[in-house]
Amino acid sequence: MLKLPGLIDPHVHVREPGQTHKEDWDTATQAALAGGVTMILAMPNTKPPIFDGETLALALEAARQKAHCDYAQFLGAGPDNSNTVPSLASKAAGLKMYLDSTFGELRLDDMTLWMPHFNNFPKDMPIVLHSESRTMAAGILFATIYDRPVHIAHISLKEEVLLIKAAKERGIKVTCEVCPHHLFLTSDESASPALGDRKAPRRGGKGARVNGRKEVRPRLATQQDVEALWQNLDVIDCFATDHAPHTLAEKDSENPPPGFPGLETLLPLLLTAVDDGRLTIDDIIQRCVINPRKIFHLPEQPETWIEVDENATYEIKVENQFTRCGWTPFEGWKVKGKVKKVVLRGRTAFENGKILVEQGYGKNVREN
Ligand SMILES: [Zn+2]
Repeated sequence: MLKLPGLIDPHVHVREPGQTHKEDWDTATQAALAGGVTMILAMPNTKPPIFDGETLALALEAARQKAHCDYAQFLGAGPDNSNTVPSLASKAAGLKMYLDSTFGELRLDDMTLWMPHFNNFPKDMPIVLHSESRTMAAGILFATIYDRPVHIAHISLKEEVLLIKAAKERGIKVTCEVCPHHLFLTSDESASPALGDRKAPRRGGKGARVNGRKEVRPRLATQQDVEALWQNLDVIDCFATDHAPHTLAEKDSENPPPGFPGLETLLPLLLTAVDDGRLTIDDIIQRCVINPRKIFHLPEQPETWIEVDENATYEIKVENQFTRCGWTPFEGWKVKGKVKKVVLRGRTAFENGKILVEQGYGKNVREN
């Protein structure tokens, strides 16, 4: 049995408020604990989005009532809130800016709308960027001009990891995260870059079915991109799930929304990579505990640890998961390493497949 610190996932879409048929603070935080994650940072693109005092209070009240694990909530940057979000910074995980996608109140149509956020948001608090490819380069330029740290969410491309490496070598304050699905899946159906023959055999079915379940943003990348991420692990500060649940019916519909669940598969996949000699346990602790704590100024969780059976071999099956969405892109994968027990602030929160702490046990880590 292996004892590890509780993991921190800095990128989770809880879906509450507004889309609780996909997930809510109850099921998302149960999934977190089952995955060995004792603290999550929640993204703001809910319905409504979290972008002012009122909406922040709405999300935090739902979390206060329902969360089983510890948490903090991100604020979203919009066109009109650059003067008001700084005063809320201490109550939030940080500021999330969507530089590529557009999300109603969180849309940032041009760079003049980025400027006041980079200027006004407290410099000791993290700004997280959804920025892909050349937009990411623009985000790093902003970090340089405004001399402040930025954290690039879910990098997936060779060009991204190489540019961040170059930026870090020049002392620019940039950190980044990568998601398991960008390390273990490629856009090429036949490729199995990381787990050798552990990947489930390709299933039959209509094209639309398969494609909907592969929809994610950033998109799955080529084998060359995936290999570049593995070759430049030292550039990658955090592993984050970008847990973004949608129901199976939605994923298999005509218009499948992008996003994968990930909280419950994060650690088994990483431990399997350890077994394959591609990672070390220390690599995991660094990227799932130490670095996110440092980047997002998160408190230590006292009397908190997880116990893992590193020799348990099993198949990932959706029926064993706590997420409400009802599917996983890793269905049928053979993995090695199982979370047996999670202790959170002195209480056994998960053991042998059961959640043992009540809704509301989770603490907002931005509150004293
Ligand atoms: Zn996301």
